[in-house]
Amino acid sequence: MQPFDYAAPPTLEEALQILSQASGLVRPIAGGTDLIAQIKERRIAPSLVLNVKEIAEANVLDYDPGQGLRIGAAVSCSDVASYAPVAAHYPSLAQACLLVGSTQIQNRGSVGGNVCNAAPSADTVPPLLTYDAVAVIAGPGGSRRVPLEDFFQGPGKTALQPQELLIEVLLPPPLPNSNSRYLRFIPREEMDIAVAGVGSMVAVDPQTNTCTRARIALASVAPTPIRAKEAERRLEGSPLTEEAIREAGELAASACSPISDIRGSAAYRKELVKVLTRRTLSQSLPR
Ligand SMILES: Cc1cc2nc3c(=O)[nH]c(=O)nc-3n(C[C@H](O)[C@H](O)[C@H](O)COP(=O)(O)OP(=O)(O)OC[C@H]3O[C@@H](n4cnc5c(N)ncnc54)[C@H](O)[C@@H]3O)c2cc1C
Repeated sequence: MQPFDYAAPPTLEEALQILSQASGLVRPIAGGTDLIAQIKERRIAPSLVLNVKEIAEANVLDYDPGQGLRIGAAVSCSDVASYAPVAAHYPSLAQACLLVGSTQIQNRGSVGGNVCNAAPSADTVPPLLTYDAVAVIAGPGGSRRVPLEDFFQGPGKTALQPQELLIEVLLPPPLPNSNSRYLRFIPREEMDIAVAGVGSMVAVDPQTNTCTRARIALASVAPTPIRAKEAERRLEGSPLTEEAIREAGELAASACSPISDIRGSAAYRKELVKVLTRRTLSQSLPR
């Protein structure tokens, strides 16, 4: 492992100052479950690793029925999954957090790190996309908000500039009569990367039984996590019948552009998307 300097600033101001004065490559670190492996494998060689876990703003985990959910960038997957409002109001996010690696990985790894690592397979991202999450980014000019949908620019590439940090991820309050589900396919029981993953969220008008909002987001089937917007449009305004759900599965499969690799062929991944979309939608029908 190539040597690097290390800083653990206690405040956001100090962290931003260090970033603005740094000359070489700086990489923020939260749990380090992605970053340390990347450094060890010499995929990146930062001159400074900047710990964000001491920063108060990055440790917020808060739910307000009027404002929604705030997840500080350093909050672990375990803490998010065990936070009662997440299980109650954003169930697919809790499900995804509990799929990330093992208990040890979930205890160390953060949702913010999962997002910033920008792997197409990141498990927490489809649920975040289905809840229209927004990234709050701090930089030398202050803070800015980026819809998570626009955050991902390619495998490992994000909208973050070199002197910026992700501070938190915001999720609006869930819609009434809504529910969500995340499922992924891996060839073994755990500790593997999704061959394909699907998060679905639906809200239903209980009077008419029609779908008032549908969100479907896909992992591991494109260079970035993506929304399946044609499939969403097929459902919104319609009753969530078996036929509508089947058609949404077909449309979701047409939205992806998977690669063929050792984990599965492109055709196999598309078939998985159809099946997982149908299952996540059926299991998202409001309770
Ligand atoms: C054995 C094992 C199994 C795994 N299984 C899964 C799995 O099933 N599903 C899955 O999705 N992932 C999996 N992962 C990947 C990893 O655990 C997750 O992506 C985790 O959520 C990363 O969080 P972290 O806090 O450890 O990130 P870190 O490693 O600390 O950071 C990840 C990246 O984000 C950047 N970063 C971190 N925080 C910030 C910030 N605040 N601002 C800007 N950039 C930042 C870092 O510089 C780095 O590039 C696995 C990893 C291991 C080692």
